[in-house]
Amino acid sequence: MRLDVVTIFPEYLEPLNVSLVGKARARGQLDVRIHDLREWTHDRHHTVDDTPYGGGPGMVMKPEPWGAALDEILASGDGTPVLVVPTPSGEPFTQQLAVELSAKPWLVFTPARYEGIDRRVIEEYGDRLDVREVSIGDYVLAGGEAPVLVMVEAVARLLPGVLGNAASHQDDSFAPGAMADLLEGPVYTKPPEWRGRGIPEILLSGHHGKIARWRRDEAFRRTDRNRPDLIERADPAAFDKHDRAI
Ligand code: SAM
Repeated sequence: MRLDVVTIFPEYLEPLNVSLVGKARARGQLDVRIHDLREWTHDRHHTVDDTPYGGGPGMVMKPEPWGAALDEILASGDGTPVLVVPTPSGEPFTQQLAVELSAKPWLVFTPARYEGIDRRVIEEYGDRLDVREVSIGDYVLAGGEAPVLVMVEAVARLLPGVLGNAASHQDDSFAPGAMADLLEGPVYTKPPEWRGRGIPEILLSGHHGKIARWRRDEAFRRTDRNRPDLIERADPAAFDKHDRAI
């Protein structure tokens, strides 16, 4: 998968060199290209922002550098990418969207600063590309770089061969299928006793069916406590399917 990120703070994306994403890059599973938007400016101060039409506080990112950057990046690859525009006013970033994006061969991210990017840029590329305006949560950050780090990590761990054990994301919170969109329940490892606290006996029973059933019940309890909205949305048929499988 190819990922391009256009930003005025390329150094903000340095975490993409470490851990899971860094290793995927080193193995050649991910081709990540970080671009400095200011390289597509032509004035002495490398200006990327200007005052908003209609007045008001803050600055708006100018369309020209974005247009020049995106035209050049689009021309540098085969096919057309999905353009992912981080914005608090976008559709929510969910595990489902991460799964959808992980199936695409090429994503281009446009993290903004100030009050965002001149609307005409989104319209211009919306006419030729699949443009997804995406929010990582109901709060406002200073820039879109942190949302890009969030999205890239969520997408990259879904790519075949990126996680050591492919099954490990199938039981995750929100994963479609196995846990029927519930949150994941508690997890334990060795030692069997720590500070006087044991682990649930069922986990030592070796009885896979009962363990799966216990995990499902714990997932349900946790979801009911922390995210009752997920239970309301869940498909009862998915629970039945899960229970029939154990
Ligand atoms: N004026 C904008 C609004 O109220 O929707 C907020 C602009 S914000 C200060 C600057 C940039 O940070 C946004 O254009 C976007 O790239 C990024 N950003 C901030 N919060 C975000 C969020 N929750 N999800 C995705 N991107 C976000």
